[in-house]
Amino acid sequence: MTTTTPDVIRVRGARQNSLRNIDVDVPKHQLVVVTGVSGSGKSSLVFDTIAAESARQLNQTFSAFAQGRLPSYAQPDVDLLENLSAVIVVDQQRLSGGPRSTVGTISDIGARLRLLFSRVGEPAAGYSHAYSFNDPAGMCPHCQGLGIAATVVESELIDFSRSLNEGAITFPAFKPGTWLWKAYAKSGFFDPDMKIIDYPTDLRELFLHAPAGEHTPPAGMDAVGTSYEGILTRFNRIYLQREPDSFKGAQREAFERIVSRGLCPECHGSRLAAPARASLINGKSIADLNAMQISDLAEHVAKIDGENVAPLVTNLCVHLERMMTLGLGYLSLDRATSTLSGGEAQRIKMVRHLGSALADMLYVFDEPTVGLHPRDVAALGQLLLALRDRGNTVLVVEHDPDIMAIADHIIDLGPGAGTTGGQIIYQGDYAGLTQADTPTGFGLRVDAHAARPRREPHGWIDIVGATTNNLRDVSTGIPRGVMTTVTGVAGSGKSSLVLGNLPTVEPDAVVIDQRPIRGSRRSNPATFTGMLNLIRDVFAKSTGAPSGLFTPNSIGGCTACEGNGVIYTDLAFMDGVVTSCEVCQGRRFTPQAQEHTVAGANIADVFEMSVKEALDYFTQPKITRVLSRLHDVGLDYLTLGQTLTSLSGGERQRLKLANELATPGRTIILDEPTTGLHLADISRLVGLLDRLIDAGSTLVVIEHNLDIIAAADWIIDIGPEAGHDGGQVIFEGTPDQMTVDSNTHTAEHLRRHLA
Ligand code: ADP
Ligand code: ADP
Ligand code: ZN
Ligand code: ZN
Repeated sequence: MTTTTPDVIRVRGARQNSLRNIDVDVPKHQLVVVTGVSGSGKSSLVFDTIAAESARQLNQTFSAFAQGRLPSYAQPDVDLLENLSAVIVVDQQRLSGGPRSTVGTISDIGARLRLLFSRVGEPAAGYSHAYSFNDPAGMCPHCQGLGIAATVVESELIDFSRSLNEGAITFPAFKPGTWLWKAYAKSGFFDPDMKIIDYPTDLRELFLHAPAGEHTPPAGMDAVGTSYEGILTRFNRIYLQREPDSFKGAQREAFERIVSRGLCPECHGSRLAAPARASLINGKSIADLNAMQISDLAEHVAKIDGENVAPLVTNLCVHLERMMTLGLGYLSLDRATSTLSGGEAQRIKMVRHLGSALADMLYVFDEPTVGLHPRDVAALGQLLLALRDRGNTVLVVEHDPDIMAIADHIIDLGPGAGTTGGQIIYQGDYAGLTQADTPTGFGLRVDAHAARPRREPHGWIDIVGATTNNLRDVSTGIPRGVMTTVTGVAGSGKSSLVLGNLPTVEPDAVVIDQRPIRGSRRSNPATFTGMLNLIRDVFAKSTGAPSGLFTPNSIGGCTACEGNGVIYTDLAFMDGVVTSCEVCQGRRFTPQAQEHTVAGANIADVFEMSVKEALDYFTQPKITRVLSRLHDVGLDYLTLGQTLTSLSGGERQRLKLANELATPGRTIILDEPTTGLHLADISRLVGLLDRLIDAGSTLVVIEHNLDIIAAADWIIDIGPEAGHDGGQVIFEGTPDQMTVDSNTHTAEHLRRHLA
């Protein structure tokens, strides 16, 4: 290494996606924020160019043997990338990992806790794997460490108001007359005409629970070739472990009614074997600790003493403290990671990396403030700086002014989206950015809070006695025909209230969230909005060719790639690889289909048009109406054929919103719609929401963004804190009332924001 190497990552001639052949130096060992309007090219630069190339080069350092087992990343479209570090991407991909993955396993805190129990737990269960539900030594044998097991609902299997002759056993295999029925009705133990409810206790016990081989039936009835056993004992033995799919028709219906999946009756959901459950520290088992909210766990762990475990306890406290700093104190270690939101997942990954000893890495974050209340943004910023101070380069795609303000360096992309973006329009510090002539600079300067007239509701949707998750018997009203924001710190209970209750009392409510769209590999904006059908009809009508010729998954589609334009190679335990189809050159359609043109463009050209270009091209009102809706939600820059898997969460949500604009008048639930949105995009979103209200919709928006909160007609604030310290409505009223009367966290930040 020479001392003359500039301490920057040099990017030269970057052209990935919409990037316009840009050169940029990313300073190392600094906190660098990349910003710009949605679609301006931030992800193309940060993820698709810098992070992708780092990962690709890292793969090449492995042996040929290992390389054969790793995905081969396509080389990004860039002339030169110099002085890269090894990259760690901390994104909002939800944590999968299946039912064995929990907050404890993923954060490594679970492993430390097990170590602690193996040292000082009384009585000791063994070494530390005896406390692990993912290890045969520690897992509950009944549910194999899943915490969930199939159980028989007794009252569903047995109709206690009937006699055996009347079909008291409801599973079809035990219907009167069958040999399984005879094993009871003809056993000689029971009067087949007596209702089960009238059996004396000992007889009932014999009927239900008797173990096999302990009772000889007086009638000698041995219809089944085995000795007598109780009905539940037999049902459990023969049927319980079977999959519902292995039954058909009435059997299957009955099975699904009788067998429910619920908490394992043996370990009560703790997943652990008896020795691990019995081992205690200060009166609590590891299962008790795993079930505690992290903020309570931290208090409990801090009280554990013992000379030989002092360093371990300190280390655990540091990790738990970090979880709390990131606003995750309301989670418990036993929470399945599959139930966490994208923002929560990203912050947990962050905790893991904060504990890492690696230095000189390149950490890349994708909008880490997602899901965070303004109260917690400053603490998150401090942790990003801490990561930098350990000798790493921290590169963050972010729109939050509070994070920009603490950055060492800011790269602003734009000015617009898609073909009108892709350039570096500002680089430097935050003070400079606030003066810059860019959409970001402008957004930071203007006061967007012109007073808005508040709309009057025309009725209320009542939620009564809600107790979902942490909610404490919440009753509240949601005004119809206006916009309500539901606010509160992360974990206070916003989703529990809105997603857990509103759809029940308001069955026509639709949830527009950022989750992936089903079958999205084969879908694109043209198919998702139903526009493709209209387009191929236009082509069929004006060329006289069959409409199937203009449909990628029909006769017109390239057979090599099934009309996708790309080939997907799935890899067993890694992200799959996408390569452009060599047969059609990524054009999706056969040469024959491409011979037909309408107004100078063929069908493959249309798939490559952006929404904006298509608006100039098409004249048919049915089509332009759909295109205008895409324009209105700010997705001008998407191409009609772009696969939906290339869309960010925010783009997916706005695409769903565009479809919703076609059928206004319903109750619409939006979960953090500002995710991925730049300051300049937010006023546009507000305009869009206003239009939905004007068209008769009711909007319920879960949101932290203060511009959106200020624009609402009504606020329901949940808190005061998270988890068991939250779950109550602490304010309901208009934004004006909130700034005057309320002292909640949201009220304080709203006041400051509007000052
Ligand atoms: P940002 O991160 O700033 O929102 P992106 O880098 O995701 O912007 O997108 C920049 C442009 O590149 C947009 O026009 C987007 O539609 C396009 N784009 C992004 N990914 C792909 C892709 N996989 N295929 C085609 N176009 C893409
Ligand atoms: P918010 O939407 O305000 O972030 P949530 O409604 O997601 O809050 O969470 C409120 C409380 O309910 C938290 O303590 C959280 O851990 C708990 N909770 C939410 N979802 C689940 C779930 N699927 N399983 C168990 N607990 C949950
Ligand atoms: Zn169990
Ligand atoms: Zn092809």
